[in-house]
Amino acid sequence: MKEFEASFPAVHEPTQEDFHRAAARAMGMPESRVATVVPLKRSLDARGKEIQYRYRLQGYAQGEPGPAPRREFAYQDVRNAEPVLIVGAGPAGLFCALKLLVLGYKPILIERGKDVHARKYDMAKLSRAGEVNIDSNYCFGEGGAGTFSDGKLYTRSSKRGDIYEVLEQMVLFGADERILLEAHPHIGSDKLSQVIENIRLGILEHGGEYHFNRRVERMHRTPAGWQLTAACLDETGGEEVFEAKHVVLATGHSGKEIYEHFYEQGWELEAKGFALGVRAEHPQNLINNARYHGLYKPYLPPAEYSLVTQVEGRGVFSFCMCPGGLLIPSATAPGEQVLNGMSNSNRSSKWANAGIVVSVEPEDLTAYTQYGPLAALRFQQEVERSMFEVTGSIKAPAQRMTDFVRRKVSADLPKSSYHPGTSSQPLHELLPSFVADRLRKAFPEFDRKIRGYYTSEALLLAVESRTSSPVRMPRDPETLEHLSCPGVYPCGEGAGYAGGIVSSALDGIRVALSIAR
Ligand SMILES: Cc1cc2nc3c(=O)[nH]c(=O)nc-3n(C[C@H](O)[C@H](O)[C@H](O)COP(=O)(O)OP(=O)(O)OC[C@H]3O[C@@H](n4cnc5c(N)ncnc54)[C@H](O)[C@@H]3O)c2cc1C
Repeated sequence: MKEFEASFPAVHEPTQEDFHRAAARAMGMPESRVATVVPLKRSLDARGKEIQYRYRLQGYAQGEPGPAPRREFAYQDVRNAEPVLIVGAGPAGLFCALKLLVLGYKPILIERGKDVHARKYDMAKLSRAGEVNIDSNYCFGEGGAGTFSDGKLYTRSSKRGDIYEVLEQMVLFGADERILLEAHPHIGSDKLSQVIENIRLGILEHGGEYHFNRRVERMHRTPAGWQLTAACLDETGGEEVFEAKHVVLATGHSGKEIYEHFYEQGWELEAKGFALGVRAEHPQNLINNARYHGLYKPYLPPAEYSLVTQVEGRGVFSFCMCPGGLLIPSATAPGEQVLNGMSNSNRSSKWANAGIVVSVEPEDLTAYTQYGPLAALRFQQEVERSMFEVTGSIKAPAQRMTDFVRRKVSADLPKSSYHPGTSSQPLHELLPSFVADRLRKAFPEFDRKIRGYYTSEALLLAVESRTSSPVRMPRDPETLEHLSCPGVYPCGEGAGYAGGIVSSALDGIRVALSIAR
């Protein structure tokens, strides 16, 4: 077997014959001696005059043992096994549950939101009428914040082996096999909801449980472990109590009630840095032209970008860039203004959007020290509420990028993908000054990296504030249990130990392994 790299023009997908020809060259043998070629990874290379796909391939000669079969996931029947309560059915909770099935524990998922299909009606009400359901929205409900997202499936984590444990299970539950191949895999909201439903059906089939419309509000330690009390949000009403020795808290960065409960109980929490800024929206064709140097063709994927710079000792960077995407309202309570981006699998909208954010450090939060570990959370809430008050609705305060830099209110605004609408406002004054001042310096700087990026055609909308959790639930580095609550495992983004779909899923797997240990 030989692993090698080969490039092919992006104008059409390379065929098996193309791969065999490349393998024969790389392996120094006639094509007839090449038995199998397996593509491992591919990325788009737009640096040269001809845009190419660069592949990493494995070639096997005749007579050699062939490639290993794909790994199998031995989910056990756990009907009578020891239960583990998992609060939150986002990527962390779901992949923790799947790993528990393999390890022989019974996952009991408790989720405040609705199943992935029912959830869509509440999101439509939010976008069309501005009505926020505090338990069912773009962050809450089956699949968590990742379901109606851009579905980007990459992480900066270097443990690629583990990443495949997540991606291969996504494929097992219906995602396109290409996510195993692409350097920047992406699923898209239109496809993700079916994968999430299939995961549920798999967990139920093996004896796990789901309880939707159950918002966990209180936790009590008992001699046998933990008792959770959840408000029943459906027609049953009242409360339901769940008990088990082990509890996984995978409630995401917006599950504020859990932080508040821990704070009231005096259980350990830490304020955590996060990042805050705006969503920048450009016409996708402008980004395509810049990234493909004028060579964009419809067979190419809409171009992505990633930007980072330092301004006055602080990182300013792009976050969650959505090519061919849409801007969406991702508030989780009435009176909040929060934006995020999503896309469908074909990323076919006319717009490219990305969060452009500034890191928030403890020195920015001196006015909030009275809130102790919730200081960053209170700051985040205050900014979100103040942005809502500007328009009195989820209509987004917005400004042309060039006007923002020149501190000028925009006379008019370009069209936007943001359905609830936009209102021209002086974002340069409305955003906290340590954010606005750095953003104003960063945009012209970004133009040096992507020509045409700094343009009056680009729209800035506020506010991008849910980049990661503003609170950490500290845990023992070995057992991953919460420092004040043995048997409780803070997990995923809400715990402050992950950010993004794949890293949250990986954290869910780690927690399951720790429980089994
Ligand atoms: C619009 C949008 C687009 C995004 N795009 C991407 C992307 O393209 N790629 C990427 O990697 N990341 C993306 N993200 C971020 C990603 O979705 C999160 O990092 C990831 O979902 C975190 O996973 P999690 O399981 O830790 O938490 P979450 O996904 O937030 O899940 C937490 C779950 O807990 C439930 N919950 C909360 N409190 C309670 C309670 N008290 N009782 C019961 N249940 C509760 C919630 O309803 C929710 O379902 C996006 C996020 C948003 C909002």
